Amino acid sequence: MVADIHFSADIAVEAARRGAAKLRINPGNIGGLAKTDAVLDAAGEAGIPIRIGVNAGSLDVELAARTDLTLAQKLARSAADYVRYCEGRGFRDLVVSAKAHDVMATVATYRQLARELPTCPLHIGVTEAGTLFQGVIKSACGLGILLEEGIGDTLRISLTDDPVQEVRACWTLLAALDLRRRAPELVSCPTCGRCQVDLIGLAQQVEERIANLGKPLKVAVMGCVVNGPGEAADADIGVACGAGMGVVFSKGDVVRKVEEKAIVDALMEEIGKL
Ligand code: SF4
Repeated sequence: MVADIHFSADIAVEAARRGAAKLRINPGNIGGLAKTDAVLDAAGEAGIPIRIGVNAGSLDVELAARTDLTLAQKLARSAADYVRYCEGRGFRDLVVSAKAHDVMATVATYRQLARELPTCPLHIGVTEAGTLFQGVIKSACGLGILLEEGIGDTLRISLTDDPVQEVRACWTLLAALDLRRRAPELVSCPTCGRCQVDLIGLAQQVEERIANLGKPLKVAVMGCVVNGPGEAADADIGVACGAGMGVVFSKGDVVRKVEEKAIVDALMEEIGKL
């Protein structure tokens, strides 16, 4: 249980005493450095880490009003100054985040933090990224750039949607970057005039049914013989469709030929055999 505390250092202290595994505090609203001391002491006594979580929407008022700094500079300075203060008091069990909804401001912030705090773990994210479609695209852009540069130790994709979608998006992003593979990957073609099945419907059904497999399998759902057999044979399980039918592959070998309406069940049966 991570206690994410704003506005009240007293509650952060109480959370540490009552067994929170970690605290998240926001330098912009926890009540200043004097209030921070009590939180650091409580976390130190409990032996738990603190995430210093800076956010563009709740920056320290004085820092936010500065016109000589960019948003990224303000976010990075707020976080870095706070880390130095905590470390100066002997508390080093820290994680840092400094998020904005603007993708490139977020990237610039974390690049600066990585330079300034090279040993401090960074929790990365584009905050308030929006609803599913926009949020995933913004997060994938920002976090993809950072992760490819080796920046980021933990991450969150923030979506105005079911939190389950956030977790799915994170795993998919990590898999796309070849950093972690714990979920299935769907390879499916964009369809074109050569396709003679409802490929979009088939791919959506397969995506839904493999979502909770918990295995890093590659499943290909392909529309015709142009790229279908190659991709289907390359995947763990795949189908290359023809006119109202599909040829199912398992580990590179053709294992059956089925009518369109039986394709999804056939793929799931073959997946179950692996
Ligand atoms: S695999 Fe076939 S149906 Fe799918 S996009 Fe390529 S050519 Fe079109």
